[in-house]
Amino acid sequence: MKSWKSRPVPQLPGRMPTVRLFDSAKDSLVAFDGPGEPSMYVCGITPYDATHMGHAASYVAFDLLNRVWRDAGKRVSYVQNVTDIDDPLLERATATGMDWKELAASQIELFRSDMEALNILPPDHYVGAVEAIPMIVPAIERLLELGLAYRVPGTAGEPDGDVYYDVEAASKHSVGADAWTLGSISGLGEAEMLELFSERGGDPGRAGKRQALDPLLWRVAREGEPSWAGGELGQGRPGWHIECTVIAQQYLPAPFTVQGGGSDLIFPHHEMGAGHAYSLSGLPLAQHFAHAGMVGLDGEKMSKSKGNLVLVSKLRAAGEQPSAIRLAILAHHYRTDWSWTEAEFEEAKARLARWTLAVSVAPEGSGAGLVATLRSEMSQDLNAPGALAAVDRWAASALDLHESKLHDAELQGAGSELDAALISDALDALLGIQL
Ligand code: ZN
Repeated sequence: MKSWKSRPVPQLPGRMPTVRLFDSAKDSLVAFDGPGEPSMYVCGITPYDATHMGHAASYVAFDLLNRVWRDAGKRVSYVQNVTDIDDPLLERATATGMDWKELAASQIELFRSDMEALNILPPDHYVGAVEAIPMIVPAIERLLELGLAYRVPGTAGEPDGDVYYDVEAASKHSVGADAWTLGSISGLGEAEMLELFSERGGDPGRAGKRQALDPLLWRVAREGEPSWAGGELGQGRPGWHIECTVIAQQYLPAPFTVQGGGSDLIFPHHEMGAGHAYSLSGLPLAQHFAHAGMVGLDGEKMSKSKGNLVLVSKLRAAGEQPSAIRLAILAHHYRTDWSWTEAEFEEAKARLARWTLAVSVAPEGSGAGLVATLRSEMSQDLNAPGALAAVDRWAASALDLHESKLHDAELQGAGSELDAALISDALDALLGIQL
């Protein structure tokens, strides 16, 4: 699938120190100081309600990781999927009377334009679930052969043949120091897993399943639902976890460096994906897992049903600058849960204006120190709020100095063009903020 356009990333003099990132599966910071090239898979959207502020914050978070790695001199491989067929998409299409394909296509297009506006570097491979079906089918067939998946017989209203992943058999089948067993990624107990499983699209009560937590791999065709050829599986469509697993295995090394997404993907999505990958390859899917916090509106959970979604496209249509939207996101550490508020957005706009003014009067020799501080903040678990505070301090002192010069005719003159260029480049390269 077509990705979106990349803006060139300025090259800065010097280099990022060792990058540290919080691994949510290991529950600790990990350092990336080895010689290899990093690779990243960030779970993509299901194309409806795109792009709300929660999506935007999550993709901005992993864009920061992409940027700090690049500044550390690394070549980053980046893959993202788009779940262009799944129950929520079909439900939304039915509810709005739209054709599901048109809904998906229009929302994917909107998402691409939002990502481009927010200066988020595109993935090298942007892969749709539908186009990945020919790769997904053999993986599910393999899990059946291994005895780690099974077909559920039909019951009232459900046809024969849906395929589920057997979490218990897969956990037992996993051997080795880095083996996956249920809970290795999320660290959750069974009661918490069951609660989240039903909240997040699982079907613990489906008759005929071996364990309540077994996730769907293949849904056989139903009347009125789209379906694709599935070889031995029959006509149908894939589950969500196997979709990401197979796309990541296809386009990235095994294991790749970081799997990213919102914190609501830890369970069951990333847990089950890690299981599928280990069952299929005997290798972990990813070395590390990183998760971005959830974004609410004025202290409430953001959801379509509450009618309180803040959409990037609506803000843009109202004439708001994408850099200001990005700056409002960066004011919160990526791992915290936070709320979008109008007051904070106003602050972000004022900050952008202040920075722009300060750069136009950048004091000579002030750029290198600021760049070093930005790198130090960003290398420590992508501490964007720390980086913003450093730019604020620099801007305040630049504007003060300029103010004092206005009273002294001998000192008057424009700021340093060299420092202005360096700082503009650093804000763009490290934070993705274009003034
Ligand atoms: Zn995913």
